[in-house]
Amino acid sequence: MSKKRVLITGAAGFLGSHLCDRFIKEGYHVIGMDNLLTGNIKNIEHLFPLPEFEYYHHDVTKFVHVPGQLDYILHFASPASPIDYLKKPIQTLKVGSLGTHNLLGLAKEKKARILVASTSEVYGDPNVHPQPEEYWGNVNPVGPRGVYDEAKRFMESITMAYHNFHGVETRIVRIFNTYGPRMRLDDGRALPAFMSQALTGQDLTLFGDGSQTRSFCYVDDLVDGIYRLLLSDYHMPVNIGNPEEITLKQFAEEILALTGARQEIVYMPLPKDDPKQRKPDITKARQLLGWEPKVNRKDGLKITYEYFKEALNK
Ligand code: NAD
Repeated sequence: MSKKRVLITGAAGFLGSHLCDRFIKEGYHVIGMDNLLTGNIKNIEHLFPLPEFEYYHHDVTKFVHVPGQLDYILHFASPASPIDYLKKPIQTLKVGSLGTHNLLGLAKEKKARILVASTSEVYGDPNVHPQPEEYWGNVNPVGPRGVYDEAKRFMESITMAYHNFHGVETRIVRIFNTYGPRMRLDDGRALPAFMSQALTGQDLTLFGDGSQTRSFCYVDDLVDGIYRLLLSDYHMPVNIGNPEEITLKQFAEEILALTGARQEIVYMPLPKDDPKQRKPDITKARQLLGWEPKVNRKDGLKITYEYFKEALNK
């Protein structure tokens, strides 16, 4: 029997590359697509010799054509960290809107099921805690983060419209902070920032007083949740993330303890519209997908630390 064919956009990025690995492992033919705006080809180079992997260098905001049958599409292309999307605001809006439109069109043409990568950022700076999927969010459309948050909110709307109007099979995952190997050390997110500071002898910078909370999900857990959601029959948004909440100050202390670094923690002003709390309600993922995170933070951080140590020595 011929292999099922899956298109993964953003394939050279952090999450996209792990998804490529998982789908290859599950026996799929994987077509990775990326324009390397924020990704790194090294993340998928190990797949190039495999006959079941193809790579297309393409900007998905332009018309997307893929020859042959397609069974699934996973749309993960988009700048994802605040540093990236603040530097590339127009590309971020375009990939969430035009890019999603192009991929939904492709899904319709190929009769493929499409899963789009949304985000906890659709909840903005939430007034409800933890955030269930029914919460509509608290987003400032004209604030600095609006380019990302609103692109993703539009992505969800147009995905639902294609589902309701054209009958396309759609899935929407709302991803909460995820970490693991292949994150970029300079992407500005808390974990790579703390780890690179710890590894290079700099003080760890905390924005605000460090009392804001985040919850960090290890990448293998996230990928497993996405895999299950794709194969489920549920088309409404589903949160995937780790509900174990931690303050950023505690997190910085954990990283200092893990790396054995002796630096101090220094405090900087909080960026505008920075969310104070972030924690997924994963009741739906538990009930619908039988999913919950398995990797504890201590183990996940250790693996990630080894990856960063090696990356810095290269
Ligand atoms: P990443 O920057 O590592 O990967 C994104 C990839 O998309 C990059 O390889 C980039 O080159 C590619 N890309 C960007 N614009 C493109 C375009 N126009 N055409 C083709 N390729 C393009 O980011 P990531 O952390 O892997 O995030 C992947 C997806 O998951 C994004 O859609 C992001 O919004 C979403 N997400 C990630 C997180 C997280 O914690 N990492 C959380 C919530 C949502």
